[in-house]
Amino acid sequence: MSNARNTVAVIGAGIVGVTTASFLLRKGHEVVLLDPERPGEGTSFGNAGCFNGSSVVPMAMPGTIRNVPNWLADPLGPLSLRLAYLPSLMPWLIRFIRAGRPEKVAAQARALRTLLAHGIETLTPLLQHAGASDLLQRLGHLIVYRTLAGWQKEQAAWKLRADNGITWDEFDGSELRQLDPNLSRAYQKGVLVRENGHTGNPHRLVNSLAAAFARDGGRILRQRVLGFDVVDARLKAVRCEDAAVAADAAVVAAGIWSKPLAAQLGDRLPLETERGYHIMIRAPEVSPRIPVADADGKFVATPMELGLRLAGTVEFAGLTAPPNWRRARVLLEQARLMYPALAGDYAEDRLSTWMGHRPSLPDSLPVIGTARKTRDVVYAFGHGHVGMACAAVTGKTVAEIIAGETPQIEVAAFSPRRFA
Ligand SMILES: Cc1cc2nc3c(=O)[nH]c(=O)nc-3n(C[C@H](O)[C@H](O)[C@H](O)COP(=O)(O)OP(=O)(O)OC[C@H]3O[C@@H](n4cnc5c(N)ncnc54)[C@H](O)[C@@H]3O)c2cc1C
Repeated sequence: MSNARNTVAVIGAGIVGVTTASFLLRKGHEVVLLDPERPGEGTSFGNAGCFNGSSVVPMAMPGTIRNVPNWLADPLGPLSLRLAYLPSLMPWLIRFIRAGRPEKVAAQARALRTLLAHGIETLTPLLQHAGASDLLQRLGHLIVYRTLAGWQKEQAAWKLRADNGITWDEFDGSELRQLDPNLSRAYQKGVLVRENGHTGNPHRLVNSLAAAFARDGGRILRQRVLGFDVVDARLKAVRCEDAAVAADAAVVAAGIWSKPLAAQLGDRLPLETERGYHIMIRAPEVSPRIPVADADGKFVATPMELGLRLAGTVEFAGLTAPPNWRRARVLLEQARLMYPALAGDYAEDRLSTWMGHRPSLPDSLPVIGTARKTRDVVYAFGHGHVGMACAAVTGKTVAEIIAGETPQIEVAAFSPRRFA
């Protein structure tokens, strides 16, 4: 596929689909964006809004698995697992454990950095064009530790960041209090990564990009994609619930829902949902100025347009199990430990909760590359914990692949064939 003005169907209007569609349109293609829902209502809706170039540390690190029993035993802990789901999770878990070997982790971090290092710079022109520059602020990201032992335990992760060119400033307990007087006095250590940014409204950010895409001539159709018409290894059309959309190329950017679509094209990928939650407090008593992550609790407090968002936790329970809202309430308890001035109780109308599906591969890397059955379909999914931060470079890379250009970043590490 190398001719501009071909029709490209982008499947999924989350942050990855919308940025990809925008870059494709800029290359001169006809682009149609397909999603049964309005843009930005999947996982891109309720995340912590962090655009962290520093998020190069894979979820599976040497020793991660040793923490699991403690995390599972702690009712306020960052991880939960529904036992009935364990047999289904097992194959993914085995790959996850294998991915945590030191030499693999170093390679994964390097690959992630290629997507993350210029994430903000790559997204900024799209946001400026959409008149939405206010939706991305580059004020840094603060990570806080309750104990120096906790900080020591994470030295391997900080070394990985340093190895990838990430710099930071460190603060002791009393300096932290000067930085944010509302923070609990329990924190002993803080680390500020200045290159990182955040959005005050991920949903509005995706919507602003989608609106600009439509204004520029892109088409958005409220259609669920069911499959592909492929003849002699060439894509003819994308089949939807109500119609077939003729297309010369397609991008699968449907987040966690990409798995069955890729399977139809001959790629059985170990994509698993790491379910996460948020709880928002409208008009909170106190709020940080920039996102603050509690390294032990593994949650982020992000100041947002509509209130203070506490987001995090990982729950393994599959795609269809109902949410366990207790996991969101746990975040409120954690937030009170971070900011003691937050009230003990809130009227329900000041709170809102949300659950979303991080689309995760066991090696913490997304899938970016062409389908087995046809090179006309390109995958762009599986961004796990860092989809907001990686989306722009992913989108630009996919547009380069579809235009027949050599991508500016090395994509081998993201190959759909790496699990074969
Ligand atoms: C609690 C939590 C906190 C997070 N915090 C951060 C953070 O701070 N920073 C960060 O970078 N990342 C964060 N993430 C991860 C990030 O939210 C995701 O990686 C990202 O939103 C994935 O985007 P996506 O476009 O791939 O998927 P989605 O946003 O889920 O979009 C997929 C779209 O595909 C559509 N779709 C599904 N099936 C079909 C079909 N058959 N046909 C057409 N369309 C279809 C869906 O309706 C949906 O709109 C967090 C995630 C969670 C859960």
